[in-house]
Amino acid sequence: MDISVVIPLYNEEESLEELYAWIKRVMTENRFSYEIVFVDDGSTDASWQVISKLREKDPNIRAIRFQHNYGKSPALFCAFQKVSGDVVITMDADLQDSPDEIPELYRMIRYEGYDLVSGWKKKRFDSILSKNLPSKLFNATARRVSGIKLHDFNCGLKAYKNEVVKNIEVYNDMHRYIPILVKNAGYTKIGEKVVRHQPRKYGKSKFGMNRFVNGYLDLMTLSFLNKFGKKPMHFFGLWGSLMFLIGLIAVIAVGAIKIYDMNHGNPYRLVTESPYFYIALTMMILGTLLFLGGFIGELISRNSPERNYYRITEEI
Ligand code: UDP
Ligand code: MG
Repeated sequence: MDISVVIPLYNEEESLEELYAWIKRVMTENRFSYEIVFVDDGSTDASWQVISKLREKDPNIRAIRFQHNYGKSPALFCAFQKVSGDVVITMDADLQDSPDEIPELYRMIRYEGYDLVSGWKKKRFDSILSKNLPSKLFNATARRVSGIKLHDFNCGLKAYKNEVVKNIEVYNDMHRYIPILVKNAGYTKIGEKVVRHQPRKYGKSKFGMNRFVNGYLDLMTLSFLNKFGKKPMHFFGLWGSLMFLIGLIAVIAVGAIKIYDMNHGNPYRLVTESPYFYIALTMMILGTLLFLGGFIGELISRNSPERNYYRITEEI
C-alpha cells in the first residue's frame, strides 16, 4: 500500500465528510493505493456515527474510537501502530490542512529519501496574538534546543516513512515535538515543505492557552531525556558535586577565618554568625539531595524495559 492517512479528531462532525471526499479525490486522481485511519479521540458529538457511515461505503477506511478524550498524541500513537502504508501522512480533521499536498509529500518521502517531511504553514490563518506570535517564539526555542532547522514543528500535516512511525513513541502532549522524537530515534533526514493553510471552517480550536506553558515544559523534558535519560547520574552527579564543593569551600573558609582570628588575638565571631556558614549548610544539603536524585534516577533507568534496546540497522 502506498499511503496511510492518519486523522486524529475530537468533535469534528461537520468537516469529516468533506475531508474524506477531498482525500479520496486526490488519491484516485493520483492512482495511489491507500487507507484512511480515523482516530476518534473520545468525541461527544456525532463524529463516530459519521465515520461509521463512511466506513460502510468505503473499505479503505479504518477507524479507532477512544473511550475518553486522551489527547492528540495518544491518538497518533495508536494509529501509528496500525498503519501499513509505505508513506504515512498525518493531517488535522478540521480542514485547515489541504489534502492537495499529499502527492508532493509522498514524492519527497518516496523518491528524495526523507524520513520525515513537516508542513510549514508559512502563511497562517490563525489569530495573531494567541497563535502566530507565540508559535514563532516556540519554534525558535525548539530549533535551538534540538538543532533541527524547521520553521513549524507543530504542523499537523506531516509525512513519514513507515519505519519511522513504528519507532517513535508519541505520548502526553509530545505531538508538538515529533521532529525531535524522530531525530532522537536516529532518523536525521528531516525536511519541510511549505503548505497551504486555511482558516478553521467549523468548530473551534481544541487547544487553549495552557498549551504554551505545557509546551515549554515538554521541551525541557525532551531535551533532558535525550541528553541524560539513560545516564541521570551524569546530570545530578555533576550539579550535586558542584554544590557540595561550594559548601565544602565555604565550611573551610569559615573555620579558617575563625582559627586565624583566634591565633592573632583578633575579636572573633561564632561560626553560626557567619553568612558563609549558612551557604555551606545549604549547599551541602542540596548537593547530597541532588546526588541521591542521581542514584535513584540510575536505579529507575536500570529497570526500564528499553535499557538494552538498540536499533541495529545492518548486520553481516
Ligand atoms: N484533536 C484531538 N484530540 C484533542 C484535541 C485535538 O484529536 O484532544 C485533534 C483535532 O480534532 C484536530 C487536530 O487534533 O483534528 C488539531 O486540533 P486543532 O485544530 O484544535 O488545533 P489547532 O489547529 O488550533 O492548533
Ligand atoms: Mg486546527
